[in-house]
Amino acid sequence: MAEFALIDLIRKRCAILRADVALGIGDDAALLAVPSGQLLAVSTDTLVAGVHFLHGADARDVGWKSLAVNLSDMAATGAEPAWATLALTLPGADARWVEPFADGFADLARLHRVALVGGDTTQGPLSITVTIHGFVAEGAALTRSGARAGDGVYVTGTLGDAAAGLRMVLSKQAGNAHLLERLHRPTPRVAQGLVLRGRATACIDVSDGLVADLGHICTASRVGAAIDADALPASPALLAAFDIPDRRELQLAGGDDYELCFTAPDEVAPGLLRELHDSGCAATRIGRVVAGSGVRVRDASGNPVAIAHRGWEHFA
Ligand code: ADP
Ligand code: MG
Repeated sequence: MAEFALIDLIRKRCAILRADVALGIGDDAALLAVPSGQLLAVSTDTLVAGVHFLHGADARDVGWKSLAVNLSDMAATGAEPAWATLALTLPGADARWVEPFADGFADLARLHRVALVGGDTTQGPLSITVTIHGFVAEGAALTRSGARAGDGVYVTGTLGDAAAGLRMVLSKQAGNAHLLERLHRPTPRVAQGLVLRGRATACIDVSDGLVADLGHICTASRVGAAIDADALPASPALLAAFDIPDRRELQLAGGDDYELCFTAPDEVAPGLLRELHDSGCAATRIGRVVAGSGVRVRDASGNPVAIAHRGWEHFA
């Protein structure tokens, strides 16, 4: 299949109409209308075969996940996603891979009304780069830098599922369906980010692991955090499959959950928690922002919890 036939295939499968797209795929540049009074939120994430997903992974899952990780960055910013571009590097022009890939991408794009407005298609080792664009009102965006000592620390959903799923895949264990779904088809918490915007003091999505990502909030906000390992929300599937030491490691250092970790003062927390619950994904209080630096983890009895691995890092 030729380059332009591939592009056409992708365009057709990902077709989503939006009035704010004046010119989409097919020209030298897309022309897009940002609503007045809003800032444009832009973020890019790359998935590389053999690094972010296994060689031979289901193409439909890869398509979904390549958009999901980007939508998760919109969620963490409190932005409303609108447009995406897709830079695809493919070993060959294989429609049997690109078709399910585009379908997986489109499955999630439709859920969030994200229009694919352009991209690039090149030959090389399999890698996918998506750039996502969204809107957020000036002053309402969530950042990493606003946490204050005394704020509570919260996380949406449950932690550790994706890393548990990965462990099962790598050890060729019979995979638990829920854990594998969480690994291959993460749910970006876009609606929850919209609830949090303008109200949470800091926010980040958990992609590298809780301790690592909360550490970024701490650094940017010049504070520390004290986490209760026994308060970390766990799915029934994780509880059933792993004992405490393994579970803690998966929850504290396992990446790929794409939950939101945020901080909020106690006055706004009850309202936020109620609205998050009503949005379809409840949040759990896991600790407190403290003066100082770094992330400290203790169990419910106050004993320090050692963290073997702090989280995922390239070039480490
Ligand atoms: P140019 O040579 O001007 O960069 P291309 O031939 O790379 O243009 O792309 C032609 C059109 O198809 C452009 O509008 C581009 O944005 C779009 N496009 C190319 N690859 C993709 C892709 N993987 N997904 C979506 N749109 C793409
Ligand atoms: Mg090009």
